[in-house]
Amino acid sequence: MSDSILIIGGGIAGINAALNAADYGCQVYLLDDTASIGGMMARLDKTFPTNDCSICIESPLMYRVDNHPNIEILTNCEVRRVNRNNGNFEIRLVKKARFVDADKCTGCGTCVEACPVSVPDELDGKIGGMRKLISIPFPQAVPNASIIDPRCRYGKMREQGACIGGCVVDCSQCRECPIALCVKACKDEGKDAVLLWQADKPMDIEVKSIIVCSGIKSYEPSTGTYGYNVYENVITNLQFERLMNAGGPTGGEIVRPSDKAHPKKIAWIQCVGRGDKELPYCSKVCCMITAKQVIITKEHDPSVETLVFYNDLKAYGKGFYDFHRKAVEGGTRYIKGKPFDIFEHPETKNLTIRFEDLDKGELMEEEVELLVLATGLIPSDRNKRLARVLGIELNEYGFFKEKEPLNAPLETNVDGVYLCGGATGPIDISESVVQASAASMKAVIARR
Ligand SMILES: Cc1cc2nc3c(=O)[nH]c(=O)nc-3n(C[C@H](O)[C@H](O)[C@H](O)COP(=O)(O)OP(=O)(O)OC[C@H]3O[C@@H](n4cnc5c(N)ncnc54)[C@H](O)[C@@H]3O)c2cc1C
Repeated sequence: MSDSILIIGGGIAGINAALNAADYGCQVYLLDDTASIGGMMARLDKTFPTNDCSICIESPLMYRVDNHPNIEILTNCEVRRVNRNNGNFEIRLVKKARFVDADKCTGCGTCVEACPVSVPDELDGKIGGMRKLISIPFPQAVPNASIIDPRCRYGKMREQGACIGGCVVDCSQCRECPIALCVKACKDEGKDAVLLWQADKPMDIEVKSIIVCSGIKSYEPSTGTYGYNVYENVITNLQFERLMNAGGPTGGEIVRPSDKAHPKKIAWIQCVGRGDKELPYCSKVCCMITAKQVIITKEHDPSVETLVFYNDLKAYGKGFYDFHRKAVEGGTRYIKGKPFDIFEHPETKNLTIRFEDLDKGELMEEEVELLVLATGLIPSDRNKRLARVLGIELNEYGFFKEKEPLNAPLETNVDGVYLCGGATGPIDISESVVQASAASMKAVIARR
């Protein structure tokens, strides 16, 4: 009988579940389908309710995972097939090609410097973030290795100036590339880690339990919602988080997209998207995300005027209401009212927000320089496929369904498959960590 555990999703929940089970002597596979573990927390600036630096907390845990003798990290990897045999799970994984040998790559970044093409970064593109076609996901990435955008390899970026643009040979047929600047830069460093001919590789493992930690996604409002994607200075709370972050595209400068000026008056609108088909529920954490963002904005520059339009306020966790009060006492104006119209001033690109002040019962307006839409959390877009492969159920919102929320939380309809963190629904970090400990203990006990 195998006593291994497969953990699917390497965010803060997966990391904690892996460390806990590994410390109890289990062999753990920690799998993520992106190029690094870390999940959403690796993208955040600071975290409520303590406002500690997010990556400063997560990075040492990522380092521990990377160096734990009982943990094997599988990034850029997908679960393709699962069979039950004699109480164990036989699993077919596919390690997608990263076109770089992660064991040889030291993360020196020479290949990234050599790459001539920059494209908008998936997450930060709207606020000016760019990445090269060969890139390292973020400075503290684990593994700390480059990955190549497959579009480059298949010649789809020729018109954008990719260095292998003129080549007519399919990269998978070549073992020596005389053209690619990243290959040359890596060889000049004496490493030879860039392998443009790498292919996807299947891998079979057998485990006793599976823990699903596939996390959450930040909801992207549809074009036109409060001027989103129409007016330049309307952004989401995730984009604002990236602006605040020293590791983000502006190096932590809170500047507005239109002219890169420091806005002196910023508004947040709560519950954006709530009631849309994809977001029919309250995401619990957005009120605290906004409280954090207004507090940090004032820490950056106390003279910035901050206002929050809200309808309901949720402060459900330990210390959360005090945290909200801290935002109010710091000078943020909370206005109970739902904006109904936004328009942009053609010259200044400022935004006028028309709203009904529900306390005063009056129609009013405010002009701001930057507008942040506090959107909610939705399930990972890969949940449907994962549920099908694992044979477990999703709830009506697309999160994984607990067997019995009261008596068997974190368990699923399949014995031996457990859940934790954002896979179960919108959640904050501390609750994800608590669930990760609980789910991993269920898996540890199940192997005995
Ligand atoms: C803008 C914003 C600000 C926030 N601020 C705070 C804060 O200050 N404090 C706080 O407590 N919380 C905050 N949160 C919430 C916090 O991000 C979550 O609680 C936390 O990330 C949940 O961790 P997780 O590991 O469950 O999921 P995630 O962090 O989402 O990690 C999930 C991982 O699973 C991987 N994955 C997904 N599907 C698959 C699959 N099928 N196969 C393989 N891998 C997969 C993903 O690539 C990802 O790496 C914030 C969220 C947002 C959006």
